[in-house]
Amino acid sequence: MSACLLCGTDDWTVIEPVVRDNRFASPGEWRVLACEACGLRQTDPLPTDEQLIALYERHYNFGGEGETGSTWARLRAAFFASPLYRLLLAVDGDVSFHALKGKGRLLDVGCNEGRGLEIYAANGFEAEGLELNRVAADAARNKGFVVYGVPIERLQPRAPYDVIVLSNVLEHALDPRAMLAAIHERLAPGGRLCLSLPNAASALRARFGKDWINWHVPFHITHFTAERLTSLLVDSGFQVAAVRNVSPALWYAQSRIAAAFPEEPRRQRDPKRAIPLMLWALTGLAARRARWNREGKGDCLVIEATRA
Ligand SMILES: [Zn+2]
Repeated sequence: MSACLLCGTDDWTVIEPVVRDNRFASPGEWRVLACEACGLRQTDPLPTDEQLIALYERHYNFGGEGETGSTWARLRAAFFASPLYRLLLAVDGDVSFHALKGKGRLLDVGCNEGRGLEIYAANGFEAEGLELNRVAADAARNKGFVVYGVPIERLQPRAPYDVIVLSNVLEHALDPRAMLAAIHERLAPGGRLCLSLPNAASALRARFGKDWINWHVPFHITHFTAERLTSLLVDSGFQVAAVRNVSPALWYAQSRIAAAFPEEPRRQRDPKRAIPLMLWALTGLAARRARWNREGKGDCLVIEATRA
C-alpha cells in the first residue's frame, strides 16, 4: 500500500473497496482510501508515470475531429460565445471559470484544444495554455495561442502570470504539492489561482458510492475535501479568498447513468440519456442542489486563492 502523497503516512481507512473505471473501461480494480492523519483520499494502487502516459495516450486522445472550420465547430464556437452559455453558467455554476473577466496574463493549465483560451481571450485576458497532449496542444496553437507542452514544473514563461486556471487538473497529479509550488512560483505577487476539482465529501458521492463519476479511477489519483484542499493551499503559500460549491447538471447525469449501467461507460455520453437527466437536475433538483452547495456538499469545489 502506498504512503499518503501529502503527509507520507500509511494509516488508511478503506472508504470504497472496489472501484472500476466507469468512464473508459480500462481494465482493473482500485480502492479509495482515506488518510487518517491528514484527511486526503487517494486511489490505490497508484499508477506509475509510465502507466499514466499509456492510459492517457489510449483514452484521453484528443483526435481534433471536425475542429477547423466545420459546421459543428462553428456552431460550438457560437454557443460558447452566446448569452445562452452565460445563462447556463449562471444557473448551473461555472467550474471552468469561463465567466471570469479581467485583464493581464492568464495561464490555463490543461487547456486541451483551447476552448477555454478562446473564452478567456474574449473576456479580456492575454491567455496562454499548457497542454501535454500534443494533438490537443496543436489544435489550440492553430487557433493562435501560445501553448506550452511541458509539465508546469518545467515551464519557463517569459513573465509571471496574473491568473492561473487549474480546472479539474490537480486531482490528476502524482505530486499535487509540487504542482501547487510550481504554480505559486509562476504567479505574480498577489496573482490569482482559480482552482476547481470534485468534492470528495459531496452528497452525490455519498449517494452513488463506487459509481460516483468523479472517482474517475485510475486517472484521478487524489480526492480532496474542502478542508484538505484549503490546508494544502495555505501550506503552499496561498491565501484562500473564496470556496464555493457547484453541482453541475452534467455531473449529476453522468453519475446517474454510471449507476444504472455500470458496465457500459459509453452511455454516459449518450445525449438521449444525459440531456433529460440534466434538465431534471436544472429543474426538479434545483432546490436540492442549491442546498447541497450551501452546506458544502456540492459535487465540485471552486476555489479562488491568491499568492500571499
Ligand atoms: Zn495524509
